[in-house]
Amino acid sequence: MPGERDFVHLHLHTEYSLLDGASRAGAVAKRAAQWDMPAVALTDHGNLYGAIPFYQACQESGVKPILGVEAYVVAEGTRADRTRSGRDGSKNLCHFTLLAENDTGWRNLLKIVSDSWLNGFYYKPRMDHDLLAAHHEGLIAMSACLGGEIPQFILNGQRQRAVDTALLYRDIFGPESFFLELMDHHTPEQTQVNEAILEIHRETGIPLIASNDVHYLESTDADPQDLLLCVQTGCLKSDPNRMQMSSRELWFRSGQQMWDLFGELPQALLNTVAVAERCNLELKFGDLILPDYPVPEGETAGSYLRKLCLERVGRFYSPVTPEVLQRLDYELKIIDDKGYSPYYLIVWDLIDYAKRNGIRVGPGRGSGAGSLAAYVLGTRQRRRQPGRLRARDHRTGPDALRPLLRALPQSREAVAARLRH
Ligand SMILES: [Zn+2]
Ligand SMILES: [Zn+2]
Repeated sequence: MPGERDFVHLHLHTEYSLLDGASRAGAVAKRAAQWDMPAVALTDHGNLYGAIPFYQACQESGVKPILGVEAYVVAEGTRADRTRSGRDGSKNLCHFTLLAENDTGWRNLLKIVSDSWLNGFYYKPRMDHDLLAAHHEGLIAMSACLGGEIPQFILNGQRQRAVDTALLYRDIFGPESFFLELMDHHTPEQTQVNEAILEIHRETGIPLIASNDVHYLESTDADPQDLLLCVQTGCLKSDPNRMQMSSRELWFRSGQQMWDLFGELPQALLNTVAVAERCNLELKFGDLILPDYPVPEGETAGSYLRKLCLERVGRFYSPVTPEVLQRLDYELKIIDDKGYSPYYLIVWDLIDYAKRNGIRVGPGRGSGAGSLAAYVLGTRQRRRQPGRLRARDHRTGPDALRPLLRALPQSREAVAARLRH
């Protein structure tokens, strides 16, 4: 008898599917744990805003987190095109489910989601087939809900296009990593689509996966979710023509309920567990990740920073007393011990570039920016004498770097170009 451990939700929206998802990460994680599910996935619409809270909530509840997205993909053309429908009038903005299998997949997911916002935004952040092909590694893909390309082609009577798209995705992601998604929210369209998907599965051998398009935790949450949609679309609940979900079954069904629905297709259910076992993303928190700053040969970031400071200290102090040198030495030691030397060099480079190019810069603030080292480097603009940098002032972790960042110049474009350089 299959139990809760024989099904994993791989398609799930939280509140970060803005004004659409009506479940919270913590509650989802607790429910999955309570029902003894081994894992649970997050696939918010077009964004990863909820990824970290979801990951941490799952860890707290002892359930394996799987991070993904329900992406928007243009069925035809590229993400740069600004069209809402294809040449034949079919919907061009489709859904597509992506899950990160490992660290490579997670990095690819970050890249393509960012790209969809930066280069593909038109009503929604959109990806295209080329973007997916370029960054498919480490990702597991599923054909999504009725809004997916394949279901849309099926509903439009374009069966061959549905098959061709399925084969295209199998080529992009590989036969092990692309699944035809089956959902059953008791709608006639889904019955039609599922029948065709089963045929395509038999013809092509592309594996099946069963999912529920989870938008809320309890079955009784359909109404609150409906209200969110009203807010999103700016419509009154009484408006008969407004956009509504086609089903009230978008809740966190139990494994047993999923087996009741798809029991005749056990592999589609067992594949959810197999995919969950494959997904092993480990995120580390609290580590400082700084890019390297290219220093002249024979120098380290620490020695180069020291050299720059010593070259400049005479511009601010005359004479340079042993006390000043002692203080500079003390600070540079703290900065280097904390691993911040490359960061100081990067900020110095940007500020120096800005000043040479007539771009205004902020004054710099915080304990780090108040140091003598920052003062002689010119990354701190205040005229008064700098305070002494103390080890306890320089907290560890990414938070510690915020004060210096505020000294960044105000002309972002030019500085961003320098950063890329
Ligand atoms: Zn969808
Ligand atoms: Zn969905």
